Amino acid sequence: MKKPIAALALALMSQSALAGEAPKWSIAIHGGAGTLDPVQMTPERRAEYEAALQQALDAGAKVLAEGGSAIDAVKAAIIPLEDSPLFNAGRGAVFTWEGTNELDASIMDGRDRSAGAVAGVKTVKNPILLADTVRTDSEHVFLIGAGAEAFALEKGFAVTPPEYFATPARREALERMKAEKLSALDVDLKFGTVGAVALDQNGNLAAGTSTGGMTGKRWGRVGDAPVIGAGTYADNRACAVSATGWGEYFLRVGVAHEICARLRATREVDALMADPAAADDAMPAEVAQYIADAVMADVKQLGGDGGVILVTPEGHALFSFNTTGMYRGRATSAGVKEVAIFGGEERASNTPDH
Ligand code: ASP
Repeated sequence: MKKPIAALALALMSQSALAGEAPKWSIAIHGGAGTLDPVQMTPERRAEYEAALQQALDAGAKVLAEGGSAIDAVKAAIIPLEDSPLFNAGRGAVFTWEGTNELDASIMDGRDRSAGAVAGVKTVKNPILLADTVRTDSEHVFLIGAGAEAFALEKGFAVTPPEYFATPARREALERMKAEKLSALDVDLKFGTVGAVALDQNGNLAAGTSTGGMTGKRWGRVGDAPVIGAGTYADNRACAVSATGWGEYFLRVGVAHEICARLRATREVDALMADPAAADDAMPAEVAQYIADAVMADVKQLGGDGGVILVTPEGHALFSFNTTGMYRGRATSAGVKEVAIFGGEERASNTPDH
């Protein structure tokens, strides 16, 4: 009997794309999705974003190439993005209605599905590291606000002055929003959240996401980014996902978990129906892409927009977004190494072993 995944794959792709060695490691990153205007993207601005993405990608890829863990690679890639004022995470985070910067982050290890998350923190330079400390050094998954900051202090995190996070461009966005009575989407146009997903040489997956949320957020609003299952999910049996976009919709769809659950179910059905003589149980990139696109279509159908990055146990590093662009990049041990901004800019095939 033909294996169902292979049968679906053949309907979606040419047989030649199935050939080749799977990469030993793989990483994808994002710096937010949104309505990016090609006219406003001057060559200088583009170069700035590309350099920042490349730096993050290189930092994550180095960890993986040297045999480090997926979870360490995710942190290594996210830290420079949090430190860059270009992105809506760490320094450069958007402003709340009250004029503060409140940061959310989450991280998950696909090995054991251990996870850590923080929301509404104001004095932690790299929220992704605090989220990871919640994962490794507490019996909890999710800490918020003053409690999360007390935990940070106890674990030796330095107190970063709130001014560190504030940038003139983000302050101006809040002021314009208030003056012109704009929505967060009108004023932001792009989201700017950051994230990374990785597969390491031991076959382990991890995902992380960090954000300042949405401009003008109030009443303690928290989006999808720090919510395990919505903005971040990793499971060695399925995939690792990090999302960016209009958080309320990603929460309602449970995007990151939904993608992983559909991938896992597809694998399970495939294993059930498999011809025991068929050796190859790898999922082709096109099948994972199809699943991610289907979940993103569901987000769109509800009225939301944004995008996801994912990495599979086979090492496929994929993107799916329903906006005009998403700051993104990917690298694999098979030699893929690229950053892109607008749709369809990838030079390499979606199958990283080519
Ligand atoms: N998803 C984030 C939120 O809703 C925003 C973003 O992706 O930039 O808080």
